[in-house]
Amino acid sequence: MNPDEDKWRVEREEMVRRQLESRDIDDERVLDVFRRVPRHLFVPERWRDDAYSDHPLSIGEGQTISQPYIVALMTQRLELKGGEKVLEVGTGSGYQAAILAELCESVVTIERFGTLSVKAKETLDSLGYANITYCVGDGTRGVEEHAPYDRIIVTASSPDVPRPLVDQLADGGLIVIPVGGGFSQDLLVVRKKGTGVRRESVCKCVFVPLVGKYGFPE
Ligand code: SAH
Repeated sequence: MNPDEDKWRVEREEMVRRQLESRDIDDERVLDVFRRVPRHLFVPERWRDDAYSDHPLSIGEGQTISQPYIVALMTQRLELKGGEKVLEVGTGSGYQAAILAELCESVVTIERFGTLSVKAKETLDSLGYANITYCVGDGTRGVEEHAPYDRIIVTASSPDVPRPLVDQLADGGLIVIPVGGGFSQDLLVVRKKGTGVRRESVCKCVFVPLVGKYGFPE
């Protein structure tokens, strides 16, 4: 193995121990993917040395790749067993999509900025991910074409849960989404059972805004 790969592997091990296991991430499948997915390849070259630090990083277009812990927490809350079809709103760098692709059957990911979507696809293609479908557009409308979804994850903050996402969620499915305005939001797990919807608040969090018809205005 080349020495650089070794260095990144050590950094990943440390990230998992210090930032995930020491907090409340205990799903072994989730911990295992975080030990394997090369996060440093999803951040711009100049931030690479900081890729495994305990904070978010800029990825261009004023957007960010979330802190590793938040990616892990949202992933754990999706309760993935392996057979699910997942919709991700907010492709960004593609890092969360890689994590999901390892843990479920297929991922549909939608991003507002074409530039970010193309870059994310390049990175994910180069790593060999073949179970991801890429869309560009307003993800607050969901992606009707591939619905229904067993799980939906929204990686930007929304004033409320966009109605189309609830409509495109399979019965018994769940959505993980940060809801709220301004500088702080509540991370919610929204479960759909028949015609009812149950919300559970997980913690406070901070995300970039979800901009679109059922999100924040431009
Ligand atoms: N999951 C990403 C995090 C990206 S940050 C990662 O792992 O890197 C949130 C992303 O949501 C940004 O790239 C932003 O452009 C995108 N976004 C915001 N509003 C959106 C919308 N209505 N539809 C799709 N993507 C949106």
